[in-house]
This record gives sequence, structure tokens and C-alpha cells, in this order.
Amino acid sequence: MRILLTNDDGIQSSGLMALKRSLERIAEVDVFAPDRNWSAAGHSRKLFDILTVRRVKLRDGSTVLTSDGTPSDCVALALMGLLPEQPDLVVSGINRGPNVGSDVTYSGTVAAAMEAVLFGRPAVAISLDGYSGWDFSYAAEFARILVPEVLQRGLPPGVLLNVNLPNLPAEQIRGVAITRLGRRIYRDELQPVEEGPEQSRYRLGGEPPTAELVPGTDAAALAAGYVSITPLHLDLTAHGFLEELRRWNFFHAQS
Ligand code: MN
Repeated sequence: MRILLTNDDGIQSSGLMALKRSLERIAEVDVFAPDRNWSAAGHSRKLFDILTVRRVKLRDGSTVLTSDGTPSDCVALALMGLLPEQPDLVVSGINRGPNVGSDVTYSGTVAAAMEAVLFGRPAVAISLDGYSGWDFSYAAEFARILVPEVLQRGLPPGVLLNVNLPNLPAEQIRGVAITRLGRRIYRDELQPVEEGPEQSRYRLGGEPPTAELVPGTDAAALAAGYVSITPLHLDLTAHGFLEELRRWNFFHAQS
């Protein structure tokens, strides 16, 4: 079993290292991750730049591949031929912070898994709840249960798993919930940093987001102490609105 491991927090992230150590007990793990933090980079690619690829040493002494590209660039580079062998599965994480609800459209962690899906590879994104003080040990352990299950059962074409874990020790985890995406409540504000006649500078930031805790959603499961697993696909079509939209009039009335 061969796994491509990537993330969006950068190659030196402790979340990636925890996952690497854990998955190496059950698989061959190739690491190819960005050389910097691309959190909230979404599904972006550096179309007009030349990508630099380097070999770097991790804290465990292993030599792995990194690039100045986005998480999706790293996955693309890896799957287009920079790996010695094609992986059976692409795993992205462990992200420092949750990726629930509409976070998935901002998330570089999830986007890396989406990129893998575009290459026809099964993929899993793993994120740990909280905004500081992460303990990756249970999430890394859980990945060792999840990964063989994914490989044995297989995922439908075009589907990835978005996994979020509570930042809790194993004995406080209440179980695993299969969920749908919830709705995030973002609390960012426009923060002027410097205002001038020619140019102004702003930060878009604020309190961490909350979520509507609707039963059945990823955010609610996570808040209740469950591991949340949401199957995602890249079809963003609003299927329920197609019929109504077909009845709209897109032609000018004859005069
Ligand atoms: Mn991140």
C-alpha cells in the first residue's frame, strides 16, 4: 500500500509529521507538501509561475519533496510523475483547525484531496478541531483505521472523504458520525491597518468562525465530540434549482 501525504500548513507542520509517523506503520508513505503555509488557499494552482521542487529533510531524518506551489500544485506535480510510483491513496493533513461547512471551499487541505480526485485517485482530507493547543495523537491513530477501510472498500469515482476530529484524547471521543456539510458563521471584520490618500491597507480577520449546530451536520457532530466524516464531490450544481431555472425567460420579447 502506497500513500501520498500532503497538507496545506507546510512541510514542517507537526500535523503532517504525526500523520506520517502513524501511516508509516501500515504503508509506504511518500511526502510531497508545500514549503510554506497555504491555509485558506482553496483549490488554487500557480498557472503562470515556474514551480521549484526541492528535497528537504524532516525532523525524523527522512528526505521528502516540497515545492513553492500550492497544495494542489504539489499533488499535481506528484501525480504527474515526480513520485517513484503512483499512490493508492492521497491523504491531506492533519490540518491545524477544522474544515467544516463552507470552510471546504477555502481549505487548501480539502483542495489537495480534490486535486487527487481530478487525477482519479481516492483521497482523504483530515483536520483537527480547535484554534490552538492541538494534540494530533488520536487523529493520527484514527487515520490508521480509516485508510485501510478506504482502500479495502474503495470510494465512488469523484468522491473524497472530509474528516474532522475533535481535539480530544481518545477516551473522550464519542464515536464516528457520517455527516453532511453544515453552515458556517464567519465573524471576520474589515480591520483598517493603515489608511492614506493613495493607498489603504486592511486585514480581514476576527474571532474564529462558529456554526449552526444542525443535527446531521459536520459542525454539530464535531461540537458533540464525534469524529465527522463527510463524503464530498466536486459537483457544485444546485440540482434542486435546475428545473425552476429552465422556466426563466432568457429571450427578449419581440417588439
Ligand atoms: Mn491549514
